[in-house]
Amino acid sequence: MHIVVCTKHTPDTEAKMSVDEAGNVSWGESPLIINPWDEYAVEEALLLREEYGGTVTVISMGPEEALEALKHAIAMGCDEAIRIWDDACADSDTLSTSYVLAKAIEKIGDVDLVLFGKSAIDTQTGQIGPAVARRLGIPALMYTIKIADLDPDGKSITVERLLEEGRQVVTAPLPAAVGTTKGINEPRYTSFIGIRKAARMKYPHWTLADIGAEEDKVGASGAAVRWPQVMPPPAREGEAEIIEAETVEEAAAILVEKLLAEKVI
Ligand SMILES: Cc1cc2nc3c(=O)[nH]c(=O)nc-3n(C[C@H](O)[C@H](O)[C@H](O)COP(=O)(O)OP(=O)(O)OC[C@H]3O[C@@H](n4cnc5c(N)ncnc54)[C@H](O)[C@@H]3O)c2cc1C
Repeated sequence: MHIVVCTKHTPDTEAKMSVDEAGNVSWGESPLIINPWDEYAVEEALLLREEYGGTVTVISMGPEEALEALKHAIAMGCDEAIRIWDDACADSDTLSTSYVLAKAIEKIGDVDLVLFGKSAIDTQTGQIGPAVARRLGIPALMYTIKIADLDPDGKSITVERLLEEGRQVVTAPLPAAVGTTKGINEPRYTSFIGIRKAARMKYPHWTLADIGAEEDKVGASGAAVRWPQVMPPPAREGEAEIIEAETVEEAAAILVEKLLAEKVI
């Protein structure tokens, strides 16, 4: 079994986002972490490897910072990690990101399963999984809450998908793309040995030429959507009055009088 997990680096969930006058979005000095939803995908890949054997390769399209996500996945126990990047990949949207990831997976070659997190916590479209599956021409089993059956020799997989009304059981041929959801497992912590391995490991860097991708289909050139302009909201104008009184009842009575005077009630 060869399982590929797609992962992305995101700002820490504690990060304070800000927007400057020019519309530049920043999360300050906040550390970058593996997209938290991807830990479920990594854990599921490791559980499947424990049961069926094989290799887990984790991939990310991104600049140097993407190594944070790859290192975390290696520290959890993945075997290989590949970063794909070229300056032309800057300003990718989901269309162009899925193209690059699909080309990288094609280059890896003998892949049985491609796993994704539910979505990325920053831009959060949830489009990458289905888009990569579409490009590879393989089934997309998104919102999977359970892998009920896997038959690597018979090349089939049965999953339970989480829907608003309940669960849907789907059987599909391998290779397939599976989007994991919270609850599918309990992601393990990184181990000390894993962290050391991740720190020492060499992370191959594939360029567009390495994966045979065409430059006009990646980054801003291949994007269908332009990144929307972001502006800080206009400063609020208004006054606040703190009602001071001896007791809560007195304060409430004053508040009622003021609301009546303003014709709010
Ligand atoms: C500097 C910058 C510029 C951008 N410019 C634009 C722009 O011009 N137009 C626009 O529409 N969007 C832009 N984006 C957003 C970009 O489209 C998304 O970050 C990207 O396509 C992934 O989509 P998502 O975050 O919604 O992932 P989702 O679809 O929510 O993620 C689903 C799964 O796919 C994985 N995944 C997502 N991205 C990657 C990746 N790169 N490598 C491996 N796995 C991945 C996730 O980790 C998750 O497991 C920009 C982002 C950045 C950081």
